[in-house]
Amino acid sequence: MTAIDAQAQIVIVGGGQAGGWVARTLRDQGHAGAIVLVGEEPHPPYERPPLSKGLLLGTAKPESTQLFPGEAWTKLRIDHRAGMRATRIERSAHRVALSDGTLIDYGALVLATGARVRRLPLDGAALPGVHYLRDLADSAAIAADLERPGRLLVIGGGWIGLEVAAAARKRGRDVTLVEAAPRLCNRALPPDLAEHLATIHAAHGVELRLGKTVTRLEGQGRVSRAVFSDGATLDVGAVVIGIGVQPNAELAAEAGLEIDPANGGIVVDDNGRTADPAIFAAGDVASHPNDLVGRRIRLESWENAQNQAIHVAKAIRGTAGGPYAEVPWFWSDQYDVNIQLVGLPQRWDRTATRGDPASGTFLVAYFDGPALVGAAAFNAGRDLRFVRRMMQLRVAVAPERLADPQVKLQDLLKPAH
Ligand code: FAD
Ligand code: NAP
Repeated sequence: MTAIDAQAQIVIVGGGQAGGWVARTLRDQGHAGAIVLVGEEPHPPYERPPLSKGLLLGTAKPESTQLFPGEAWTKLRIDHRAGMRATRIERSAHRVALSDGTLIDYGALVLATGARVRRLPLDGAALPGVHYLRDLADSAAIAADLERPGRLLVIGGGWIGLEVAAAARKRGRDVTLVEAAPRLCNRALPPDLAEHLATIHAAHGVELRLGKTVTRLEGQGRVSRAVFSDGATLDVGAVVIGIGVQPNAELAAEAGLEIDPANGGIVVDDNGRTADPAIFAAGDVASHPNDLVGRRIRLESWENAQNQAIHVAKAIRGTAGGPYAEVPWFWSDQYDVNIQLVGLPQRWDRTATRGDPASGTFLVAYFDGPALVGAAAFNAGRDLRFVRRMMQLRVAVAPERLADPQVKLQDLLKPAH
């Protein structure tokens, strides 16, 4: 793969986690030329996971989310165009237009534009007290509303919804969570684990309304009531909507780059490169092939935003040394429960459970024939690390051995004699 000239100007669009890691790694890898980071948000790159956890609980401060705090950021010598939007890519001229009319030349361009929240077309959704959660300002507004009296209504039983519900309960708020599907985390969790998660939330006092939708929000000057599909009404003090995201791929699409119809992401190869050799993409917006999963995927996860970005920067420098191929992993913290998932299993014919779900500490692994295709761990992160390694190394594992508490998981990683 051809490396980009070390003196070339590199433009990164998107100043989030992936954009920040591309910038940092380019410098770590010795890129001497200018690096321009165009970011619509007013902040230096930051991490979003605390926005639905520590920041809502008051256990973390906004400054702690910064990717490269203080001096570390300055030392990278990044030309950060904060509060600026990239509006057009001129591929033949190798330049990008910004919202203030500036045109910036690039030797290489990285699209790290991430994703934006999916909006719910609902009467009353624009009332004060109705929130989405993607950035620091959203998180601060929700935290402020958690100080107010009244019930919190959460719309959407995905990760945002569940983490916000957990934080609100921890802060003593009454919480109702409504999910259109008949179960929580419909796409991310198999039914039995979704049920387990529902039990945890119910035990912590969340009123769950599954298989229901909200048809209208009402209020004079501020949201105060929700109307449901079954005609029921609920008095509410605030509402948080978390019904998924859509990738910010329009800039790429308008420039004629290929978009994956299956997931809306920018099509890249296993080095993060698009069909245009000077343009790359990383993070939530990139649709990349993953041999370990066996298909093209677009991941919305903290780890991918970091590691794919690092890989792309190395590919630009010519130091990647192989394809980007990791077993997808992510985590969620809700109450005192740490949930970790590996793989993206779409089908399986057998499971192996290690530990006792009744104890709250257990792992379920999924097998498709002989292949280990994924696992979910509840307060069993250490075990999950071994399972992930087995998947990464494609180690053949018998389900009954994995489930056997007498068998040390590290021993399953050793080659059989
Ligand atoms: P983003 O973080 O979306 O950053 C993209 C940036 O690009 C944004 O700042 C955007 O404003 C900017 N941008 C977009 N278009 C333009 C343009 N045209 N010009 C200029 N700038 C532009 N993942 C986990 O694995 N575990 C977790 O516990 C977890 N918790 C999360 C909690 C919350 C509240 C949220 C919102 C996400 C969480 N995630 C978690 C997901 C993880 O944070 C994302 O996968 C990650 O932020 C993706 O990084 P990114 O840089 O690709 O995109
Ligand atoms: P998500 O995880 O995709 O979940 C969205 C949920 O809302 C799904 O359960 C979805 O059900 C449901 N939904 C969709 N339309 C609905 C409707 N009209 N009414 C009620 N429910 C509806 O997305 P998210 O929770 O909004 O999170 C946004 C982003 O932040 C994602 O990228 C996520 O990965 C990230 N995030 C991650 C974490 C973490 O990893 N711990 C934490 C917070 C946020 P269907 O699946 O049936 O459509």
